[in-house]
Amino acid sequence: MTGQERSEEKSECVSLSPMMEADPALPESERVCVFGTGDLGHSLGLRLLQAGYGVVFGSRRPHSSSRLPHGAQVLGHAAAAQSAHLIFIAVQREHYDFLVPLANQLKGKVLVDLSNNLRKNQYPEANAEYLQSLVPGAEVVKGFNTLSAWSLQNGPSDANRQVYICGESAEAKEAVIAVATKLGLSALDRGSISVARELEDFPLQLFPQWRLPLRIAIGLSAAFFFYLLIRYVIYAYVTQGKDISFRIMVSLANQVCPIVSLIMLSLCYLPGVLASFLQLYRGTKYRRFPNWLDRWMLCRKQLGLLSLGFAFLHVLYTLIIPIRYFVRFKATERTVSVIRENRTTEFDTTTAWRSDSYLSLGILGFGLYVLLGITSLPSVSNALSWREFSFVQSKLGHLTLLLCTAHTYLYGWNRFLSSSTYKWYTPPGYMLCLVLPSVVLLLKLLLITPCVDRTITRIRQGWERGADQRNPKDSQPLIP
Ligand code: NAP
Repeated sequence: MTGQERSEEKSECVSLSPMMEADPALPESERVCVFGTGDLGHSLGLRLLQAGYGVVFGSRRPHSSSRLPHGAQVLGHAAAAQSAHLIFIAVQREHYDFLVPLANQLKGKVLVDLSNNLRKNQYPEANAEYLQSLVPGAEVVKGFNTLSAWSLQNGPSDANRQVYICGESAEAKEAVIAVATKLGLSALDRGSISVARELEDFPLQLFPQWRLPLRIAIGLSAAFFFYLLIRYVIYAYVTQGKDISFRIMVSLANQVCPIVSLIMLSLCYLPGVLASFLQLYRGTKYRRFPNWLDRWMLCRKQLGLLSLGFAFLHVLYTLIIPIRYFVRFKATERTVSVIRENRTTEFDTTTAWRSDSYLSLGILGFGLYVLLGITSLPSVSNALSWREFSFVQSKLGHLTLLLCTAHTYLYGWNRFLSSSTYKWYTPPGYMLCLVLPSVVLLLKLLLITPCVDRTITRIRQGWERGADQRNPKDSQPLIP
């Protein structure tokens, strides 16, 4: 560096707190550089300073950067690049061309690409790959882009701790992981730079695992709402001229919720049952499930939680029945007419049994539903062993389905056989919703019969049908 360059660098160096400026005595590994003094650069710089790093910002306007954290130093890009081995690029990708003239200063440095895009496939190549092409002499590592400026500023307790990194150089990635660890973050190496696009797409995702279950829930709710609207409200209007449209708000909602809940709970257990039959049919567990089944199995938790939500709404709607104006009016009218007509009514023990059993099964089913929901929370499931988790989610899950299905059968009781139930030749919603859970329970019953269960268990332990003939050494059964 010439004397003139040195004096220019001196004049472009601005310390925001002379007492705490990046200590040149600090080893290079304790000094980091951040290009860009915007939202992310500012928050990251602050966290780095708090973690004990000496921070040097690289800015286009080092003299007018007024909102930087105390203790940081701010220089022009070229000078800042020389102060540290590791440089965070907190600049939008569109402006990356400013790095091209700095290629010499950046040679051998580790550049951390923090950038994100506005939408998927916005550019032909990943931002990190683009950065690497602009500065081929540097080691580019993609990372930290899943953190927000806000979460970084709010400190380790509130921030999302998980960061993903990828890059070609193992050494460069180690240096970035070391910084992440010192910041209290947990870094996961996702592999080479070719994964960068995937990491850049992470922040653009909006509840990806909830999309399918939510669509199913909305689709089922809408379909059953219109079905029930026609069967009850429109039917009453057309055939009896009665306007019972007020029933849409509570009665209809209280029918749609349990129907959707039961169907979604069945959909939560159906893929597991189908997968077992597929393994039985193929005689091996070593062949991949079709993609649709894989996708379905991956969203079982979300299906279950949504179904719990609908069950919860059903409970709330049921609890408010006694305070409904319509119900109180009908009850009073009935009592008055019994007194006026001097009638007596007989207590029907069968009806009492049916009603109590129906309610009791509903309560037990809902209790188990809640248990399933609680054990699916990561903080709870992490505290369970695999056996405990699968006992609750599988055994108790199927028991929940059984109780809720029985609850619905008892609701129908003898109405299944009455022709007046089938308005306009259509079955009521609760009958339709019984089809899927009944099928799932029947299939599950088949799977737990001893001979089928034994084969499935062997397959899950690695046994393959036909393998005995292929390799006589494997002829010993895994389960005696
Ligand atoms: P920002 O607030 O717009 O700041 C970007 C900084 O880049 C500016 O402050 C400026 O710093 C510098 N800059 C602007 N134009 C430039 C140019 N033509 N040449 C060189 N430098 C220029 O952006 P940000 O929100 O901090 O985001 C920075 C990067 O991090 C983006 O790629 C973004 O996708 C990514 N990111 C942001 C967040 C977040 O929460 N904000 C989260 C994850 C990832 P100087 O004036 O000091 O030069």
